Amino acid sequence: MSLTRKTAAELGALMASGEVSAVEVTQAHLDRVAEVDGQVHAFLHVAAESALAQARAVDARRAAGEELGPLAGVPIAHKDVFTTTDMPTTAGSKILEGYRPPYDATVTARLREAGLVILGKTNLDEFAMGSSTENSAYGPTRNPWDLGRIPGGSSGGSSAAVASYQAPLSTGTDTGGSIRQPAAVTGIVGMKPTYGGSSRYGLIAFASSLDTPGPFARTVLDAALLHEAFSGHDVMDTTSIHAEVPPVVEAARHGDVAGLRVGVVKEFGGEGYQPGVLARFHEAVELLESMGAKVAEISCPNFGYALPAYYLIAPSECSSNLARFDGMRYGLRAGDDGSRSAEEVMALTRAAGFGPEVKRRIMLGTYALSSGYYDAYYGSAQKVRTLIARDFEAAFHQVDVLISPTTPTTAFPIGERADDPMAMYLADLCTIPANLAGNAAISVPCGLADEDGLPVGLQIMAPVLGDDRCYRVAAAVEKAFESRWGGPLLKEAPSL
Ligand code: GLN
Repeated sequence: MSLTRKTAAELGALMASGEVSAVEVTQAHLDRVAEVDGQVHAFLHVAAESALAQARAVDARRAAGEELGPLAGVPIAHKDVFTTTDMPTTAGSKILEGYRPPYDATVTARLREAGLVILGKTNLDEFAMGSSTENSAYGPTRNPWDLGRIPGGSSGGSSAAVASYQAPLSTGTDTGGSIRQPAAVTGIVGMKPTYGGSSRYGLIAFASSLDTPGPFARTVLDAALLHEAFSGHDVMDTTSIHAEVPPVVEAARHGDVAGLRVGVVKEFGGEGYQPGVLARFHEAVELLESMGAKVAEISCPNFGYALPAYYLIAPSECSSNLARFDGMRYGLRAGDDGSRSAEEVMALTRAAGFGPEVKRRIMLGTYALSSGYYDAYYGSAQKVRTLIARDFEAAFHQVDVLISPTTPTTAFPIGERADDPMAMYLADLCTIPANLAGNAAISVPCGLADEDGLPVGLQIMAPVLGDDRCYRVAAAVEKAFESRWGGPLLKEAPSL
């Protein structure tokens, strides 16, 4: 079996036993990138030489008898919104074209410490604003299941890289759904950890109270191994949680739902959802019941207000965070011919450097925060945020996890929603509540929709710091589907 078809856990074991070297594993994945990324466009930057150098270093340490972690030598694709000193960091924006950060993000540094081999940086919607990667200044990424469709977003380069076997693992960030939604529509696993469970230091900020780094993988165990490798307290991030990383790897190894109380969110999964998505979701509910879970419908009455609240809070924070891109400090500077004032240069730089969706968000945010409107918009949205957190609290008095479809539809055609922001925003209808409340949530594949043969994701939401519960349930679902289909059906389908 080709090395690119193996899981990260399998590759780690093969390297630990000396059956293959990190250089061989890295080369196999670089070959795969060369073979398919012309069609997929998952990567903005491929760092072949530095990847091979990292792999040689892992092999040398192993040859010297060093004990290395389970992911040492495993290749990874890294979302281009984390700073990296040895590769460009663009956040998918023209305004940061060619930018080389002076420091590594904590997530980047921890990947390196774990011996992971960074293959390159992946494409994303500009500043992680979007659900399709069509908002990237560097062109869209394509879904490996159907190259005419979107791979989700904003972490669409990362989901596509893993789904097309260019890397067994990748990083993402989830502010409103940007890990779970791309995972769902490309048939892989994507986890949004508890807010503050993974560090934001060196993550280019979109909405700081929501941004959460997390893992993508083709199996639940692989996602957990990566989750563990880069999570945990960081003194450089003031919102980082002071707590042990939940036992995610242990949970992923022991998928089991016997006796578990599962709540089906009543407000999600009705009208407006694709029939094939609903059919797979209802089957997953039956599957959980057949494995011994106690399933009940749970109402979360404020979840329906999550989307509008998010589209006030996230743009408000982004309008402040993106003020730093002024042509003075980083990247692009436009119109600086010696005749213009600093203010004029800033205005020209921002006009030329930001794409239309980023400008829309900045305008929405500055409007929501402006005097006279602040209480009506931003203030109300914050109140709704509290109500949503209370819905979760009430639900978790009754059940251990909540479930829903991850997305209302499967992957849509490139271009279909590009001119309709409202339709685009609906892709995150089910994922946003967990961001607003800071909860842990995962998407795991639960089959293919009958009408288009495209992957459907099951979302499992757990309380704050209940990340291990997400993995436990996801692992049970994964195992049940594998035995039903006689193999990892979803993981073999991409047609490249
Ligand atoms: N699609 C959502 C948005 O456009 C979420 C993005 C994200 O999670 N980064 O804001």
